[in-house]
Amino acid sequence: MSDSNGVEDAGFDEWLEAAEEDGAYYLECENGHGSLPPRRVCPDCGSLDLSKVEMPETGEIETFNVTHVPTPAFEEDAPYATAIANFGPVRVTGQVVGVDLSAVETGLDVEIQVTVSETTGERVLGLRPA
Ligand SMILES: [Zn+2]
Repeated sequence: MSDSNGVEDAGFDEWLEAAEEDGAYYLECENGHGSLPPRRVCPDCGSLDLSKVEMPETGEIETFNVTHVPTPAFEEDAPYATAIANFGPVRVTGQVVGVDLSAVETGLDVEIQVTVSETTGERVLGLRPA
């Protein structure tokens, strides 16, 4: 629980919470490299000067994978598709939600939707067709 805008203490769970409430953001260094929390250092250039930037509304599925036999933690969610979506400055990995699995394809426009795993009750990052 924090009102801080500092990126130092933003873990991935906090990031999901923020994404759910205010919309997702990514971290950008002074050289324009994007990354996602939890990061304290730019993975591209090592910059420590990261600031929060609002995530583009939609991204595009670059690659995906359908899981029929999941790990126990996601048992109740299967089958499901996990995709990597390109949001421009950053790539986001999430579970594809709100669409029939047969409709998931490369190039599909998606937006971030924080969802809750049916199995664990934990927040997970979902990608919903835009
Ligand atoms: Zn950088």
